[in-house]
Amino acid sequence: MIPGPIEFEPEVLRAMGMATTSHVAPNFIETFGKSLEMMRDIWMAPNGQPFIVAGTGTLAMDMAAANLIERGDNALVISTGYFGKRFKDILDRYGANTTILESNVGEIVPIDAIEKELSSKQFKVLTITHVDTSTGVLVDPKPIAELARKYNVLCILDGVCSVAGEEIKQEEWGIDVVLTGSQKAIGVPPGLALLVASQKAMEVWENRRTPVSSYYSDWNNWLPIMRAYEERRSSYFGTPAVNLIVALETSLKIIGAEKIANRVEKNKKLAEAFRAGIKALNLEILPKTEEIAANTLSAIYYPKDIDGAELRSRIAHYNIIVAGGLLSEIKASYFRIGHMGSVSSNDLISVLSALEMALLELGHSFESGKGLQAFQDNLLASNEKLSTV
Ligand SMILES: *Cc1c(COP(=O)(O)O)cnc(C)c1O
Repeated sequence: MIPGPIEFEPEVLRAMGMATTSHVAPNFIETFGKSLEMMRDIWMAPNGQPFIVAGTGTLAMDMAAANLIERGDNALVISTGYFGKRFKDILDRYGANTTILESNVGEIVPIDAIEKELSSKQFKVLTITHVDTSTGVLVDPKPIAELARKYNVLCILDGVCSVAGEEIKQEEWGIDVVLTGSQKAIGVPPGLALLVASQKAMEVWENRRTPVSSYYSDWNNWLPIMRAYEERRSSYFGTPAVNLIVALETSLKIIGAEKIANRVEKNKKLAEAFRAGIKALNLEILPKTEEIAANTLSAIYYPKDIDGAELRSRIAHYNIIVAGGLLSEIKASYFRIGHMGSVSSNDLISVLSALEMALLELGHSFESGKGLQAFQDNLLASNEKLSTV
């Protein structure tokens, strides 16, 4: 139950285990082409340019920066935790003059602070971390993307912990790059960097004055490959991660069959019920309000008098693996539970039960069963709401 790699569907894992074909085999060309097409549906970017490249989510961040930044460009990072700071490091590496607006822990950066910064000078790009996996804070990208358009700034969304788990309408919201890695809500083992770029982002890249300084990330190398596979032709730059892409097609088909909007809605309902369960155990989550609490993971403070490592190890005795903290300032004071991908209410009942038992063993004060009860009641109430709509 960690926030990536998540638990994968058996069909996806079976796809991984298939005999590896040539990257120019007709079946694989079809798989690659179909995967690119399905990405547009899930990103809701019918005119976007998808990229599938072997690497991790960080490579997708690197690609966006390498291709869109030229030395001396101004970049604005809107940070809600660890991954915002990483984006600043990457942008700086490509010569950007980066300003970072950091929220307080568990909060978001106020929209007027963003507008104030944008109006102070001309930025080339801004980045948003949709869900910062270190804090479980969810940022609404829509009003920020609107500001980006108003000030003529390219808007990049780090969706590594949100694509296919939180609502994203890339084209309608006017976001120029939405990127992710395979091992989170997309539901494929680690190893693929996935990104969709808007027409505007591609134009900005085409009109660069200087060459892209990263050889591997350069869209000049990858765009012809993506176009070829979409046109069902073979092409070669670097050998594609054949098995991972077969697994990606499998997972995208599962998501497509469920419909992305339904999947996001289900995820939200389960996450809300889960948070109700957590709160009923007298535990506090990092995000300060319900509106900015992510639906793909929860970051939860340990109770004051309880040793965190001991709690996680007792939870593990009940066969539930959770993650420790990630944000260095408060690393030892909280833990994280992923609930994205194909997570079900049964999974979350098991998690709450294991958490309750571990907390009871350590003497945390609450009435046994309270968390499970709150989870069930919340879920029943939201099902009720659904059936009356
Ligand atoms: C996991 C994550 C990343 C980094 O992805 P890797 O695949 O580990 O390189 C970047 N941003 C966010 C928001 C993430 O959750």
